[in-house]
Amino acid sequence: MAVVRSVSDLRRIVDVWRNQGARIALVPTMGAVHEGHLSLVSLARAHADRTITSIFVNPSQFAPGEDFEKYPRDEASDVQKLAAAGCDLLFAPAVAEMYRPGAATTITVGDVAELLDGLARPGHFSGVATIVAKLLIQASPDLAVFGEKDFQQLQVIRRLVCDLDLPVEILGAPTMREPDGLAMSSRNVYLNQAQREVAGRLNVILTTAARSLRDGDEVSDVERRAQEALFRAGFEGIDYLSVRDAGTLAELRDARRPARIFAAVRIGAVRLIDNIEV
Ligand code: AMP
Repeated sequence: MAVVRSVSDLRRIVDVWRNQGARIALVPTMGAVHEGHLSLVSLARAHADRTITSIFVNPSQFAPGEDFEKYPRDEASDVQKLAAAGCDLLFAPAVAEMYRPGAATTITVGDVAELLDGLARPGHFSGVATIVAKLLIQASPDLAVFGEKDFQQLQVIRRLVCDLDLPVEILGAPTMREPDGLAMSSRNVYLNQAQREVAGRLNVILTTAARSLRDGDEVSDVERRAQEALFRAGFEGIDYLSVRDAGTLAELRDARRPARIFAAVRIGAVRLIDNIEV
């Protein structure tokens, strides 16, 4: 697996592949690679001839006081895992390569980016949209793969690609979980043993809530019971626990529409997000 750090080196390799007629996939990540990321690489490989993974811890999607500085970084181990998974190229630019002096252009997605994490993390999706647009323009892949773990992000990117006519297909990939249901995440390393045990309850509580909705319980009752269960389980804060329309992520008005439950919860200084189809 080749490793490149500049946009020009990335483009040189992509041009060669294009001239060979290869179909190219991009998997954007922030590194600290785990099985969830590798499942995206594997999905990408199933749909393309060449797979690029990017690793970039994007400062503009972290708010002041969030974990940008201490976000886990281990490129040597990431390179090994990605190469073993059959990734063809790693694009791992420095911040100065992605944000040139004087950089002044940002992309703001409205609508689906203004709810849930858009409210809880002001500016976050603008940072995501800007960096993903740049990566898509730089790598010009035929397809890009994103995880349903970050379902709202996936919908924001679909909106972005549609609105800007970016010629790329977006694939969503299912969430990879630990045996107790905890969604795999680079941030799980922040959890101590006691917190790790609590964290496993999140998916169990969401699964119970989804079952209650399928059984016909009222949305507001299900949300309230799930919130109570989260506090009983040991979570210390809830940014949101909400049943939403699976397409628009708006509050669910019509119980016959496909629904999804979204949660962002806190234990100590750790923030976990998860979501589940109803
Ligand atoms: P991150 O490095 O956390 O920014 O994630 C990079 C990509 O991997 C995003 O598209 C995420 O949605 C996806 N991803 C993260 N965790 C998982 C997981 N547990 N299962 C599937 N995809 C994931």
